Amino acid sequence: MEDTLEGTREEASGSEAPAQVTQPWTFSKSSLIRKLRQHLISTRSRPTMAAPSSGGLEVLLSTLQNAGDIENMLNILNVLDELLSAGTDRRIHHMISKGGSEALLTALVNTACSFTPNYTILLPLLHLLAKVGYRDRQIGLKAQKADAVLVVLGLLRQNTENARRAAACLWVLRVFCSSVTTADLLGKNRGLDVVFKLISSHTTKHLRTVKAAVDAFAAMLCSKINCRTAVMKGYIADLLKLYEDWHNNDVNLKNIPIRRALLHCLQRASNSAVGRDALVAEGGIGLLFQTTQTCLTMKGLESLVEPAIQLMRKCNPKVPLPLTSDKSAFSFPLPGRPVDDWDADLGLYDGSLEDDSDEDAENEEPDNRDYEDDLETDVNKLRPRPEPDRPLEQLGQYVCLCPELHHDFQDLDSSSEIDESSDDDSTQEGDLNDQRSSELPSDRDENHLQTSDFHKHYLNCSRKGQVGHSSMVDRLLEKYGICIPNHDPRLYATTAANTKSIAGYSILAFPDFWGHLPPQEQEPMAKRPPHVQRKKVFEDIQRLICPEDIINKVVFDMDDTSSQCSPDMCPSSLRFFSKFESGNLRKAIQVRSHEYDLILNADVNSSAHCQWFYFEVSGMVAGVPYRFNIINCEKGNSQYNYGMQPVLYSVREALEGKPHWVRTGSKICYYRNHFCPRRGQKHSFYTLTFTVTFRHEDDVCYLAYHYPYTYTTLQTHLKMLEKSVDPRKVFFRQQNLCDTLAGNSCSLVTITACPTSRAWKHLHQLRNRPCVVLTARVHPGESNASWVLKGTLEFLCSSDPVAESLREAYIFKIVPMLNPDGVINGNNRCSLTAEDLNRQWLKPDPNLSPTIYHTKGFLYYLNSIGRTPLVFCDYHGHSRKKNVFLYGCSMKETLWQSGSPINTVSLKEDPGYRTIAKTLDRIAPAFSFNSCNYLVEKSRASTARVVVWREIGVLRSYTMESTYNGCNQGIYKGLQTGTRELEEMGMKFSQSLLTLRRNAIHYNSRLIHNASALLDLDDRLLDHKSNNCFEDDEPACMEEIEYSSCSDPFGANELDTDVSANVSSEEEDEEDADICRNGQRRTDRKSHLVPHYLKQDTLEPLTIKGGQCNGIDISNSYLY
Ligand SMILES: [Zn+2]
Repeated sequence: MEDTLEGTREEASGSEAPAQVTQPWTFSKSSLIRKLRQHLISTRSRPTMAAPSSGGLEVLLSTLQNAGDIENMLNILNVLDELLSAGTDRRIHHMISKGGSEALLTALVNTACSFTPNYTILLPLLHLLAKVGYRDRQIGLKAQKADAVLVVLGLLRQNTENARRAAACLWVLRVFCSSVTTADLLGKNRGLDVVFKLISSHTTKHLRTVKAAVDAFAAMLCSKINCRTAVMKGYIADLLKLYEDWHNNDVNLKNIPIRRALLHCLQRASNSAVGRDALVAEGGIGLLFQTTQTCLTMKGLESLVEPAIQLMRKCNPKVPLPLTSDKSAFSFPLPGRPVDDWDADLGLYDGSLEDDSDEDAENEEPDNRDYEDDLETDVNKLRPRPEPDRPLEQLGQYVCLCPELHHDFQDLDSSSEIDESSDDDSTQEGDLNDQRSSELPSDRDENHLQTSDFHKHYLNCSRKGQVGHSSMVDRLLEKYGICIPNHDPRLYATTAANTKSIAGYSILAFPDFWGHLPPQEQEPMAKRPPHVQRKKVFEDIQRLICPEDIINKVVFDMDDTSSQCSPDMCPSSLRFFSKFESGNLRKAIQVRSHEYDLILNADVNSSAHCQWFYFEVSGMVAGVPYRFNIINCEKGNSQYNYGMQPVLYSVREALEGKPHWVRTGSKICYYRNHFCPRRGQKHSFYTLTFTVTFRHEDDVCYLAYHYPYTYTTLQTHLKMLEKSVDPRKVFFRQQNLCDTLAGNSCSLVTITACPTSRAWKHLHQLRNRPCVVLTARVHPGESNASWVLKGTLEFLCSSDPVAESLREAYIFKIVPMLNPDGVINGNNRCSLTAEDLNRQWLKPDPNLSPTIYHTKGFLYYLNSIGRTPLVFCDYHGHSRKKNVFLYGCSMKETLWQSGSPINTVSLKEDPGYRTIAKTLDRIAPAFSFNSCNYLVEKSRASTARVVVWREIGVLRSYTMESTYNGCNQGIYKGLQTGTRELEEMGMKFSQSLLTLRRNAIHYNSRLIHNASALLDLDDRLLDHKSNNCFEDDEPACMEEIEYSSCSDPFGANELDTDVSANVSSEEEDEEDADICRNGQRRTDRKSHLVPHYLKQDTLEPLTIKGGQCNGIDISNSYLY
């Protein structure tokens, strides 16, 4: 807003006013005009003196409408033109605000309707109207009101043989079409036919007029009715022929603007379904494909390639996913709900792809605006309000979840103890077996023990196996045994037997079973090859124009095992599999010999939320690039467009001592495709495409969105940890918080230090340690959260001195997986209720969201016994941002950022909510303070972070978001995160908690020493700013992810230049030169500010809103 002020001032008092007085008059010396002009200038330079009614501009405009005198009119037009050409658009807007458009329209109608229209006046009038009208959003309606629309159409009819006059009329008609109703009016009066006649086949004559005609025709197609008319009259076919003709004959590339304008016409037509159908029916896609291929071979044709591709994508007919139903292959009966109820959950498709959308240039800063509107401004909702949502009596059930408070530590000397309440499955040892071991020749020589033998069928966790056989697993471990810390394949297999999945999985994915070690080297982000998406889109388009090249063979179908390809039936196809924990491949279709479309299963009981993937692939040929397309992704953008790669695990490599998930894949991109759900063509999906070249022949590999971490992995890990700690020092309890809907246990882990003795003061110290509550994995697709939590757990159980101090300082209460059912069944977002559990915190249903209900209940319990947690943190993964960062809650920052009029100075707020982030910024390399924010959004009112902050009264209540990709700052800059870095983050988070205790602790000097040494902190406040949490932190993608909108490529400058050329040029040669020059120039329309630029502005504390500055209205005081 401040720059508005400056710009205006400069214009008002700056260069042109005095300078122009000395310039010679081109036209008349009429005293009237001179007076007007001087009046205008003096008025403008002395704004405060000018009474609005006597403004010079008004006088000029009024004279223009009423003067019959040709000379006067010409002079006024000349003055106006001079004034408007010299300055910026702002002047034109000023003129518009003073009724300039209406005056020009009236003058036009009056002149045109006189007995003999005078073109000496009409031509400059039309030119001026085109310039002004282009900037006046209301011009279409104003033109209708002034009855000017048909007048100009009439002028055009009379002047089809006069190129200059026709061009001027065409520009004006084009700007009139900014209103759809005006376009309709023109269409009703056969405007399409009149204009179309002026679009000729390739020629060297009157190029400016031809282009003006194409532009006007495109403008008229903003109306659906006109689109239909154009289709009916065969104009789409004609436009395609014209495009081909100009393409073929434009040998010297002089006609790029006309070719582009023709594409623009087609794009406009394709905003309607009839237009798209006609374009396809007329062979438009094939034509565009061929011409574009030619364009690619020549330099300087980029401005044609991009719109052509967008047009092809847009017209590529929507194809429903090749599934019998959009619904998840899994359904689960919910307590208290009819079985097929979820069937109707279809509000998901928001119709974001408008079928017949009119283009709009208005929405300048939607993200920013939406975001600010979302901020909570109701102080009452921003105030902590700790009161339970349930009767206090019900909280008694949680007493047993604080065993450390009631334990008497009688057995401090004994080596171990068993907690009755813990979920003990460890009696199943040795139950692991090999159902199909008979199929495995036992006398194979060792070298023949191939990777393929370890295919999932031999890794079975069924309890009901045969007894007394030599287990495949035993042999595997004997031969290839490796040591992965805190992992044991046998324990994994026995633990898996207790994991309850909807499909009744009995097969283990090898990586989960065998274990993963982070690779030695760090993995840099992938470089995006130039135009990778374009190449992929071409391949997609070729499916339509060369259907005979497409195999379209289903090689895997979760719903129909009979279509599963066996190695004998399809020796040349890859084989897929995903019937294991967290696996979720629904269907695989071989499209070309080395290309597969993959469809993900929707979340249980729903028809949506696809993004996470995890599946097995085998039967590959080494060294051959395979293209994989996951065709039903749903998010609007992805870090896959910014250097992220999927992860791959090779069984062969694992057996060779490299049990690593590694980042893999090349030619990766993510873009909107032409597939749609079976119900609802308005919605469409996104493709994640990547190419993998496998290193080994006949390997068994696993591909995933991110490092998998299953429920069984967690349960195994907790058992290992429990075994690993010294029970005399570390108090470690795993308890069952509650059962999930599917009957899995949701674990609550308690970690703290055992007291040094049973002396009262030691027990007292223990019982007065503040609580830290950590939760994770409410969103099943966010496996990174589990890896971070693994790091936290391992660190807290370790013998590191800082960990010891932490245990002595706090009682940790950890719910490592809030959504076990979702994780087990391969969901991406939801629980079995098809609801996002992190939107249930306000009023969790005990039957439908038990894990949330009881976690919240437990927090209330802590609150009720005066032990409100010092810190609450819910670990998440973020798919659209880099680094790791925190979201917290601050009343003041929220009010301040939302522009609320409430005076925040008088509000009291403990600034301690920032301490952890400040510490992490120093000690955690992946952490980015600048990505953190503490704003409370209305849309997040029912998330853990906001509810725990407000209802439980936890000042430090956070969501910790970890990237799926990597970092763009610090020592990990440019690297993708591995599990090592994620675990490190979990460790650093724990360490940062020590700083909270540094000043409060007086009983343990060692602890203070540890904290200071570790963190090397002083009390200097870091001057960081809180950031806005825009969904998307990345710059616009290099290539258009979407295709639904096509922007008008022709800017005001281009129009102005064409108009000026029409005024001056007499010969066609010059005209050609202009057009050619224009073709080289980039369109110079004011670019929309993209959100990430805006963001900086919104951070400024003193943003002046609505033109108000200290109560003074600054928007009107200059110029006028
Ligand atoms: Zn999440």
